[in-house]
Amino acid sequence: MNPPLIYDLDLPDLARLLESWGEPAYRARQVWQGLYHAFHASPAEFTTLPASLRQKLAEAFRFQVLAPMTVLESSDRQTIKTLFRLDDERAIEAVLMRYDKRRTLCISTQVGCAMGCAFCATGQMGFGRHLSSGEIVAQVMHYARLLHATGETVTNVVVMGMGEPFHNYENTLAAIDRLNDADGYNFGARRFTISTVGLVPMIRRFAQEQRQVNLAISLHAADDALRLSMMPVTKKYSIDEILAACQEYVAATGRRVTFEWALIREVNDTPEQARLLAHKLKGLLCHVNVIPLNPTDGFAGQATTRERAEAFQASLEANGIPCTIRLRRGIDIQAGCGQLASRAAVKTPTPADAGRDIP
Ligand code: SAH
Ligand code: SF4
Repeated sequence: MNPPLIYDLDLPDLARLLESWGEPAYRARQVWQGLYHAFHASPAEFTTLPASLRQKLAEAFRFQVLAPMTVLESSDRQTIKTLFRLDDERAIEAVLMRYDKRRTLCISTQVGCAMGCAFCATGQMGFGRHLSSGEIVAQVMHYARLLHATGETVTNVVVMGMGEPFHNYENTLAAIDRLNDADGYNFGARRFTISTVGLVPMIRRFAQEQRQVNLAISLHAADDALRLSMMPVTKKYSIDEILAACQEYVAATGRRVTFEWALIREVNDTPEQARLLAHKLKGLLCHVNVIPLNPTDGFAGQATTRERAEAFQASLEANGIPCTIRLRRGIDIQAGCGQLASRAAVKTPTPADAGRDIP
């Protein structure tokens, strides 16, 4: 069996282990800071530690679990997408987007996804497995290290890569907490955004935890019939149930919810959908992000046009719902979620189990 991944540990876990090895109490913090302040990627880089301890760490832990297989840079060099191979030969993606002084990372929480959304390259693969909290943390550390080399830092993390974060709730939140640790990477909770397909019990649980982390809901349709035609999860949770859970979230946290909407030409970019959406969202503290669909091989839908996107936005705003049109960035490098992994010659899941196993 492989040794555990060093990024799977919290500081108290590490402190207990080092104590059991007879190390002085300050060592744990030294290792922690080596990982999360200096971004060391191997035991050899911990030059302030005695060689014997470096050796022990090297035997007890894996430090590198993400092997970059393909790195794609957009033509404007602002977007970098990396396809990583995991230890079990499976693949995940994480993307860096530089835009308007922000350096936003988009990270994955699962290999594939069980939710089976028809328009999504990851959904088309089916479910592989959950990522551990350390595998999620390691994606951020990979890019933090890369940016550190040019004097830059990560400014935002969006949990919008492969997988459904609320289907892997514990590991996703554990990863965020570890990255948030004031003694470690110290990445502010408000700079994270979790995007979910709308798993109602988890939205409720998240609301009660009162975190500062931003919440986004992938809605994409304003009536259940249309949503069901694209998103099997609608069988389990209706739009109204999702919106009721969002109300609870807003009431418990005072925070605004973001709704994600991929505009598909003549499908969900119509004046009727815009009107119905505005009606459903009335009175909810929220914001709508629309983005033209990123076409995928497994889905016949086309991207909306600029005119239709603007009309959709105008209709929402006229009804008092704030709406932003997002750009499709990195389109020339298949930066849409799952698009690179679905083409890679690595072990990816099969679509057979798509849409099953919805918690
Ligand atoms: N599973 C989570 C997070 C990952 S998907 C979720 O669904 O929210 C991140 C976002 O990309 C979601 O809003 C999803 O609906 C959207 N998305 C997936 N495929 C897309 C595509 N082909 N074009 C545009 N947006 C897409
Ligand atoms: Fe999964 Fe999100 Fe893709 Fe749906 S859109 S299949 S929930 S990753």
